[in-house]
Amino acid sequence: MADALMLQPDPEFVREVNANSGGELKKCFQCATCTSVCSLSTEARPFPRKQVLEAQWGLKDRLLGDPAIWLCHDCADCTARCPRGARPSAVMDALRMAAIRRMAFPRFMGSLVGDMETGLIVLFISALLLLAIALLPISKFAVRPFVFAQMFPKDRLEPMFFAVGAFVVLALTIGTVRFIRALRAAGARGPILPALVPALLEILRHRRFGNCNAGQTRRLGHLLTLYGFVGLAAMGTAVGIGSMFGLIDTPLPNLYPLKIFANVCALVLVIGISILVAKRLTDPEKRAGSSFCDWYFLALLGGIGLTGILSEGLRLAQSLDWMFFIYYVHLSLVLTLFLCTPYSKFVHFLYRTIAMAATWQESKSPGRGQLRPGGPEVVSSEGPGLPHVMGTRS
Ligand code: SF4
Ligand code: SF4
Repeated sequence: MADALMLQPDPEFVREVNANSGGELKKCFQCATCTSVCSLSTEARPFPRKQVLEAQWGLKDRLLGDPAIWLCHDCADCTARCPRGARPSAVMDALRMAAIRRMAFPRFMGSLVGDMETGLIVLFISALLLLAIALLPISKFAVRPFVFAQMFPKDRLEPMFFAVGAFVVLALTIGTVRFIRALRAAGARGPILPALVPALLEILRHRRFGNCNAGQTRRLGHLLTLYGFVGLAAMGTAVGIGSMFGLIDTPLPNLYPLKIFANVCALVLVIGISILVAKRLTDPEKRAGSSFCDWYFLALLGGIGLTGILSEGLRLAQSLDWMFFIYYVHLSLVLTLFLCTPYSKFVHFLYRTIAMAATWQESKSPGRGQLRPGGPEVVSSEGPGLPHVMGTRS
């Protein structure tokens, strides 16, 4: 007989996923309707039925290293069709959040930011930090034209943002290493780095979103959000580094091309987020399955775009009453996004890209690292009964 593969259920993990997916996890009776209706599931990498079963069994290590949880685009088609109300899309979402918590560096931040209250505390601390930086004599505001540097001097602001940025890069790097280790432990083989190119091309085109029954509206919302955010991030980084090393003179003059570009990107971001919010509000399944993390993420991104545009408009109008306050809110939101990035839903851009690369690599080497029928017998330390639906490791 082939070697047996021992499974070690984690009851605590079952409780966590059940609690974060609406408490209906145990209702699944493995009819596989969800996998049948999911237009992104493939024979080689099926989901979400398999993951729901593994979650019921508490197979934490398998799930944390399963790229399929990141291939799901959270359209909720499967939840709409589930005859048992087991909410498979919410289970997939809860699995992603569980993975983010466990890949987090430092680990305690993963659990903290996942909570609603903590997310708000991070926002509050960010605002306080900025307030501390902004403590300047009020007489400075008498100098016209008013510029943001009067309240937020760049020699204090830039080092703070660079320090936070360096910490975030470190946290993301360690998270990436942990995630790749989890993928390897779950059977992924082959180099992931070269496969990042096709994965990124796929993300830039969002073709898989088009395949999803959620439709073209959600794809459009995602694309606009993605391009608006990437444009803003690239512009912000370029200006920040340029200013820090004396290559760019800030504040930038009006009608400076980079400034116009940033405002266009902010507008694109706001339109994208508005589409996603409208879609979430009008789709009963999406609305019911939306967690605080989902809304928090959308509010943060939309808020950054909106306050950015408003700040620029108020500065052009030289409206002293509001321009500093709105810009203060804007910087607080940007800083909060920085701080939350490795620990919130936002980091899915990183893990999904790596998961897609791993899957692409796997498709080039069929049969390697996949669960498939016909291999060694799988047994659980809690007893028999799982193998015929679990598949076996090659
Ligand atoms: S989650 Fe629902 S649709 Fe999917 S296998 Fe379980 S009962 Fe069937
Ligand atoms: S939420 Fe959509 S993409 Fe994810 S498993 Fe369900 S049907 Fe598939």
